Amino acid sequence: MLGELILKPGKERSLLRRHPWVYDTAVARVAGQPAQGATVAVRAADGRWLAWAAYAPGATLRARCWSFVETDTIDAAWIGARVRAAVARRLPLRAESDALRLVYGEADCLPGFIADRYGNQLVVQLQSSGAQAWREALLDALVQASGCANVYERSDSATRQREGLAAASGVARGAEPAARIEVQEHGLRMAVDVRGGHKTGFYIDQRDNRRLVRALAGAAAERQGRAPTALNCFCYTGGFSLAAAAGGAQRVLSIDSSAEALALAADNAARNGQTGVHEWRQADVFQALRQLRDGEERFDLIVLDPPKFAASHHHVERAARAYKDITLNALRLLAPGGDLLTFSCSGAIGVELFQKIVAGAVVDAGVDCQMLARLAAGADHPLLMTHPEGEYLKGLLLRRLA
Ligand code: SAH
Repeated sequence: MLGELILKPGKERSLLRRHPWVYDTAVARVAGQPAQGATVAVRAADGRWLAWAAYAPGATLRARCWSFVETDTIDAAWIGARVRAAVARRLPLRAESDALRLVYGEADCLPGFIADRYGNQLVVQLQSSGAQAWREALLDALVQASGCANVYERSDSATRQREGLAAASGVARGAEPAARIEVQEHGLRMAVDVRGGHKTGFYIDQRDNRRLVRALAGAAAERQGRAPTALNCFCYTGGFSLAAAAGGAQRVLSIDSSAEALALAADNAARNGQTGVHEWRQADVFQALRQLRDGEERFDLIVLDPPKFAASHHHVERAARAYKDITLNALRLLAPGGDLLTFSCSGAIGVELFQKIVAGAVVDAGVDCQMLARLAAGADHPLLMTHPEGEYLKGLLLRRLA
């Protein structure tokens, strides 16, 4: 017999709206003795069936819903069908890049399961008890649907700890990955370190915005009748820097605190024959922007893509100050007519708040700026409309009026 979670009165409301998370505080009692990751029926206080979910004893997210359809049976075939559907939805993106997110957890109705593809290498993260319990079925289906035999596991995120799961990294299927895997995005070649890189190795989510930077550099060149200059802060392995150079920037200054990331970035530039354009500077961006401000140099194109400043709601105020600080100092370095892309990947900072923070920086900079676009993650990182928590990456494209 399957276990059951019976909710407190009123706590069924979010599930009736198909929100996939059941918090520990919503649970009145557990019937049966479900194991970690086991499928349970979630029921309202009056006994009404609500969802099939994976049970996570001890976790704040006590259960994550697989399905809101009572006739569904959660088994390997059901899991496999969801994986295949997710992979099929990304097929049109293959023309753009061979670095793609194939499965994006809650957004693909597979809570806690992340799968990225780099060339023929798959990298997975199992971040929930349910994903862990269905590990073999998920990997079997993924290998079959993608046609890639090699799977590397990077289940090393904090999310996993919160679920009471130990960190796990290593080869899950097939062979050891190469130390550097080359991918091609919009014709640019980039090396990815799937073992030691951030996330699963690369910021796949910024693909569209990298293409935008390339187009903006090209447009600036046309407008100004000369090749633009660009500044890329928090450059990691140089994605935006390469894009700016590919768009025709004559000089690209890229800043990051990590020597390792900068080395890979320089290697990436060489892979694309971009010589004499890049300067890779190891520095703290907060300090570097102040130093640059005191100098003469101004930039036609600036990208600010910092790490997550707000890990949770507790850090929102401090994070807001940090986003404002870098945006303000970047605006002071932006040439009249220039473009600034400023991003936040903090889920705790919503789109509206971020826009307010950026607007505050514009006011303090004493310049006129137009907002040309709101930016987000690419189509392989969709947002499930019933799960707004999935929204994290947001950005604004500003143009400083001359
Ligand atoms: N824009 C990148 C991703 C940025 S990830 C891309 O598109 O691929 C954030 C980067 O910020 C990391 O490489 C990290 O090393 C760097 N970083 C974090 N804090 C920093 C700081 N205070 N100054 C400079 N770099 C920093």
